[in-house]
Amino acid sequence: MKLNVLKDYPLSGLTTFKIGGAARFYIKAESPGGVCESVELAKRHGIPFYVLGGGSNLLVSDRGYDGLVVHIANTESDTATDGENVYKTCGAGVVWDSFVSECVGENLFGVECLSGIPGTVGASPVQNIGAYGQSVESLIHEVVAVDTADGNTVRFSNAQCNFSYRKSLFNSEAFGKYIIISVKFALKRVGKPSVRYHDLEKYFLKDTDVTLQEIRTAVLKIREHKGMLQMDGYRGFKCAGSFFKNPVVSGGHFDEIAGVLNVAAPNRNWYWPQSDAEVKVSAAFLIDNCFGKGFRKGRVGLAPNHTLAIVNYDDATFSEVIDFAKLIEDTVYERFKVTLDREIQILQ
Ligand SMILES: Cc1cc2nc3c(=O)[nH]c(=O)nc-3n(C[C@H](O)[C@H](O)[C@H](O)COP(=O)(O)OP(=O)(O)OC[C@H]3O[C@@H](n4cnc5c(N)ncnc54)[C@H](O)[C@@H]3O)c2cc1C
Repeated sequence: MKLNVLKDYPLSGLTTFKIGGAARFYIKAESPGGVCESVELAKRHGIPFYVLGGGSNLLVSDRGYDGLVVHIANTESDTATDGENVYKTCGAGVVWDSFVSECVGENLFGVECLSGIPGTVGASPVQNIGAYGQSVESLIHEVVAVDTADGNTVRFSNAQCNFSYRKSLFNSEAFGKYIIISVKFALKRVGKPSVRYHDLEKYFLKDTDVTLQEIRTAVLKIREHKGMLQMDGYRGFKCAGSFFKNPVVSGGHFDEIAGVLNVAAPNRNWYWPQSDAEVKVSAAFLIDNCFGKGFRKGRVGLAPNHTLAIVNYDDATFSEVIDFAKLIEDTVYERFKVTLDREIQILQ
């Protein structure tokens, strides 16, 4: 297979942040074979490589990347049915929301709340994407990946992916080791549309008798209102979605945070008790408490209706975004002794 290697390829346009320099080398890999050969080529020449999907969870340095960017673009797909279950296998380069739209169109349950998330199918298991009460871990049947150490194909069952909140094998202990080339999803022909999240409950005013298409429309509208929709025909901010994860703290630490906030713990939608004496706290609530909604500094700021997103308002640089993120992190730590973990990936 002849690989089309491009030199000094600009990356900013391939990301939703619209920030960053060029890749020294760039290959668009349109087949699983192309992915493997690209990696082999990089290894043969002793060049580092980085896997790029839709660039929607990524901040690229202004200096760019001194290596090979392998842009995943294989889109083969297949559907099989087994009773109530429908199994859809999609190439890693399939646009995530096209897959969601297809499932909703076929009245398949389980993915409707994940409408409008940018990026590719291949990246969806990496940070276990989630929104509005659903996450992709609940529908992943199998992930097929290439082991970059030896080029072998490896199959991961759902359990082997080690999914948890915004986390999987692929962005933790095995980060960079596997390149996902396809994902097999298990969807249901019968079910109940998911209206669990407060934004959706508010939208439907407790009416739970809604169709999958109505849920999808609602989610897209809510996302649009937040400036978090990167689709044709909609205006979205230049950002990578949520920059920070919601921290999970111990019960004692939670009481201290509530004390600093001086708010009654009940009746506030800013924390979610977890199973084992831990509490997930809304990072947005803590940030708002320190800075107020929509805080901006120069060309960078928080999205007015989605505090967790840091927005590039006007051709900001990589350093401006990082400095802004550090200001948020340091201030939240100073006030609440909470360390904010970043949800986004950085390429430099
Ligand atoms: C407006 C907006 C809204 C968002 N809303 C949400 C949301 O509601 N919920 C949510 O969870 N996320 C959200 N995100 C984040 C983002 O869309 C997801 O993380 C998405 O899955 C990233 O996909 P991508 O293809 O763009 O990955 P990229 O940004 O290209 O890559 C992200 C990481 O995954 C790795 N990667 C990509 N493809 C592969 C592959 N095939 N194999 C191995 N590693 C790979 C990359 O190396 C990188 O480390 C949002 C982002 C934006 C811009």
